[in-house]
Amino acid sequence: MDVTLPMTDGTTVTLRPSKIIALGLNYLEHIRESGSVNVQNFTDEVPEEPVLFAKTPNVLIGPGETIILPALIERYHFDEPRTDYEGELALIIRDRIRNVSEEEALDHILGFTCFNDVSQRNFQRSDKSGWFRGKSLDTFGPIGPVIVGPGEIGDPQNLRIRTRLNGRLVQEASTSQMIFPIPAIIAFVSANFTLEPGDIISTGTPSGVGPLTDGDVVEVEIENIGILRNPVRAEKS
Ligand code: MG
Repeated sequence: MDVTLPMTDGTTVTLRPSKIIALGLNYLEHIRESGSVNVQNFTDEVPEEPVLFAKTPNVLIGPGETIILPALIERYHFDEPRTDYEGELALIIRDRIRNVSEEEALDHILGFTCFNDVSQRNFQRSDKSGWFRGKSLDTFGPIGPVIVGPGEIGDPQNLRIRTRLNGRLVQEASTSQMIFPIPAIIAFVSANFTLEPGDIISTGTPSGVGPLTDGDVVEVEIENIGILRNPVRAEKS
């Protein structure tokens, strides 16, 4: 789905990424809650290199748009159906890059924004192919509300990140707590995949993830960016 966001320089950007690469397990406190998240290959071990997975571009929705919990989920009659919010700092790639060094990595960022890596845990737990389906259902990637350029963001590795569910604070951390900082992430991702202009990298969620249900409103707020707010609806079967 097309999402057009304003940039801090007064222009707008329509996001049509060739890929969305996300990080798992990039905050220690989130790794420590692996027992409650309980999905495949999510243990309490600290990873030795960035843990990457993909989300498909059909997940993207803009600020104010609705996260839909698909009726499909009900058909499985899970004992504890659970679709979680995950507040994250995302970055948009500016240039076609491959194999960039950590020193050079930040020069290729168009800007930064808030992202909600919505995740269907039951599918993540049980699908034989792993996390693919649970991470890439339609509307499972709210993004925005604005793309802040590298000149306006301040130190991207020192931003407060907060998630609120129906006004209640549920996640609070600093991007300084990332296990793999942004230059290391870009260097590692670009060593594996050629990155294209408009590609999105989401840098992982801190602790405090939890379930979304019909009627909720979820907000991801990042210092120097703003608030990404989305309502949640369960699709009628
Ligand atoms: Mg995530």
